[in-house]
Amino acid sequence: MTNENTLTGKDTLTGKDTGELSGFAALGITGALLKATHGAGFTEPKPIQAQAIPPQLEGRDIFGIAQTGSGKTAAFALPILSKIIALGTKRRPKTARALILAPTRELAVQIEDMIKLLAKGAHVSTALVLGGVSRFSQVKKIAPGVDILIATPGRLTDLVREGDLVLADTKWLVLDEGDRMLDMGFINDVKRIARATAPDRQTVLFSATMPAEIAELAKGLLKNPIRVEVAPHSTAAAEIVQGVVFARTKQKRQVLSTMLADEAMKSVIIFSRTKHGADRVTKDLERDGFRAAVIHGNKSQNARQKALNDFREGSVRILVATDIAARGIDVPGISHVVNFDLPDEAESYVHRIGRTGRNGMDGIAITLCDPSENSKLRQVERIIRTKLPIVADHLGSPDPQRNPAEKNERSFEPANDRNGRRDGRRPGGQNNGNKRFGDKPVFAGERKPESAKPFKGNNKRRFGGKRPAARAA
Ligand code: AMP
Repeated sequence: MTNENTLTGKDTLTGKDTGELSGFAALGITGALLKATHGAGFTEPKPIQAQAIPPQLEGRDIFGIAQTGSGKTAAFALPILSKIIALGTKRRPKTARALILAPTRELAVQIEDMIKLLAKGAHVSTALVLGGVSRFSQVKKIAPGVDILIATPGRLTDLVREGDLVLADTKWLVLDEGDRMLDMGFINDVKRIARATAPDRQTVLFSATMPAEIAELAKGLLKNPIRVEVAPHSTAAAEIVQGVVFARTKQKRQVLSTMLADEAMKSVIIFSRTKHGADRVTKDLERDGFRAAVIHGNKSQNARQKALNDFREGSVRILVATDIAARGIDVPGISHVVNFDLPDEAESYVHRIGRTGRNGMDGIAITLCDPSENSKLRQVERIIRTKLPIVADHLGSPDPQRNPAEKNERSFEPANDRNGRRDGRRPGGQNNGNKRFGDKPVFAGERKPESAKPFKGNNKRRFGGKRPAARAA
């Protein structure tokens, strides 16, 4: 429901209406769009929205550093919606007036949902173009022309190449999660897509991190952009309590099951480095009596969406995922993130744990670390500029690769001794109330180590080129 009170500000002393616009109205959002924004429960703009909306409404390009969870979807969507609504419904067949590119299908679906919510009551058409689902229905949907198209680069490239979509009328281009697109080998597709759009387009590029390639891409695509930034580079959300559990790979299954028996773990996402590993964790959990949904790039799009929906709706409390879900997925109320293993890229750790502690809520992130992963753990600690407190140590014998003296240098004392006994302390020395880690030493469950297949993006694709298998993500 629209809260009219938020349209104008109040004098802090008298409580009287000052007549000045406040909230989204003060940023330049008006009419039906303002009503729908309030209807979505957004009354006060988030910092990224306050920074990015006014310059976009003025027509400026934006170079944004922000993670999913910061409110960046509305930050780019509201100005586009505002302009499209003002222009009325003028669309040519097979065209899209605005194009939003996202690296994963789940994120694209989420963006469309948000846009529909924000555009409620306005006559704005949206369509999704994603791999892994019927091409026919997508072509049909864009045939009359569409206002806002949300797409993953691979399928979009196919449709452009085959003449089912023309981008010449595309006056707004958004590149969401730019660094992820880079990881997934989409950058050349992105450049080609951008070249096919209207030369006088307005462009917004958001990226959670700023590798040199993204800065380079930004230079080529953005005209005199305004730079907006909300979270310092690679800093984990302050609300997330983090900890590490030392356990050999063969112990991890039981460590995990013991943890999950704790009812404080209400809604848990478990990250596995590989698709095969994610399947195995899921099977083991099922054998241990837990229901879990699984999401990774080898699953069909329908299976992925169902897993995510079941988790979102709470019909399963455990979601096992590869890094495909580490970014972009916004499921409110995830209480715990468990890293069954450390990611190949330390940056992914930040994205994984960012699935919890969202919107100012508490969250716990636990990383299971085999001695062979110690160097990856150190990389993670370097990038988050923090030593992870030790929640439990199941190694049983001194670890030659990790000097015990190093632990004493940590900002927090170990919560357990080397035999896995807890000393009653909470990680980080804080009292976490009912937020508990699994607290029993465990030594069972014989498993072979994962066969690691780090993802290598394919940058060689051209319009007309062959689709690399990795694009299934
Ligand atoms: P995003 O970064 O776009 O994925 O947004 C993260 C979460 O913040 C989503 O659940 C949004 O519904 C929510 N959100 C975005 N903007 C606002 C706002 N101004 N007020 C309250 N919640 C918001």
